[in-house]
Amino acid sequence: MKFNTKAIHAGQKNEETTGAVMPPIFQTSTFAQESPNVHQGYDYARVGNPTRTALENLIAGLEGADEGICFSSGVAAMDAIIRMFRPGDHIVTTNDLYGGSYRLFKEMFEPFGIKFSFVDMTDLSLVEEAITKETKLIWVETPTNPLLRVVDIEKISSLAKKHNILTAVDNTFASPYLQQPLSLGADIVMHSTTKFLGGHSDVIGGAVATSNKEVTEKLRFQIKTTGAVPGPMDCYLTLRGIKTLAVRVQRSVDNAKKIAQWLTEQPEVEKVYYPGLTSHAQHDIAKKQMNDFGAMVSFSLKDDSIEAAGRLMSKTNVFTLAESLGGVESLVSHPASMTHGSIPKEVREKAGLFDSLIRLSVGIEDADDLIDDLKQSLN
Ligand SMILES: *Cc1c(COP(=O)(O)O)cnc(C)c1O
Repeated sequence: MKFNTKAIHAGQKNEETTGAVMPPIFQTSTFAQESPNVHQGYDYARVGNPTRTALENLIAGLEGADEGICFSSGVAAMDAIIRMFRPGDHIVTTNDLYGGSYRLFKEMFEPFGIKFSFVDMTDLSLVEEAITKETKLIWVETPTNPLLRVVDIEKISSLAKKHNILTAVDNTFASPYLQQPLSLGADIVMHSTTKFLGGHSDVIGGAVATSNKEVTEKLRFQIKTTGAVPGPMDCYLTLRGIKTLAVRVQRSVDNAKKIAQWLTEQPEVEKVYYPGLTSHAQHDIAKKQMNDFGAMVSFSLKDDSIEAAGRLMSKTNVFTLAESLGGVESLVSHPASMTHGSIPKEVREKAGLFDSLIRLSVGIEDADDLIDDLKQSLN
């Protein structure tokens, strides 16, 4: 099956008793058993629920994985992955990481003795230098947030294999429509399904996809034991969202390309960050590992100040100023004062995160209206 077909049908079957085309929302906490230990596949809904199973099978199909495991949020999925490791274990990750991931690693897991190295993963030699005898995992995020750097998944995965280390990829920014890390050699894919997979800004969720049996067993044991499970209604909403993933993301990407190109031509704009521009430092890697260049665009202003960015964002009418991304509606956000506000200015700027940097999550509206909105906001 090709991707567009998989997005509708992967792992899905019509419901057995009625033939319902969509899986019912099994709003139940428990399941009747014939006798102790004899049941029809489900006993208690923390462990499993048929609506969740339908979603897990669909996500596994999209990522080309044997199994999908769904969580109550993206960070809950990450939390479960990192909990597979033990004090003394070491994880190499990127210095350009989603803020919530950085907080989880630094504030939750470092105090428990798991060690992290944060390196610039666009330079493979820095990744190799960071590897120690204790390294158990390389955690990749690509494209990164908010600078949209692209990391070579194939090269990192083969380096990891050479050292007997697992590779996990946060595939939230690309979505499986644009990038399938397992086919590039990664072992684990993680999603905030809140973003492109759900796609309608109406549900929080997370997922892991993997063909590694040991990882699957550990994660299933964890979700049973620690309980960060998504409810059946949330699973249903995410499943419904995924059915239109391919058409939504393609329209968003088409819009993003037009906007990125238009922004490069505006005198008020200093720099545009978009992997689809030939000027992007990792354009060739993006071309190699992604089916298209994504729906996220960042740009900075010649007037590099928080005030200038604030003025622009207060003028937009179609773009909504809000956290999050990946929905049908276009959003604008300001990393320096929102997601990355807690990082000191000097540290931010050293990482290339300027005060006027603005991040767009491009939705599926008409590109002309989006460009008009930016035009009237820029001056
Ligand atoms: C949003 C996000 C997360 C966290 O997911 P939640 O669903 O908000 O818990 C993790 N990684 C990336 C790249 C994200 O954008």
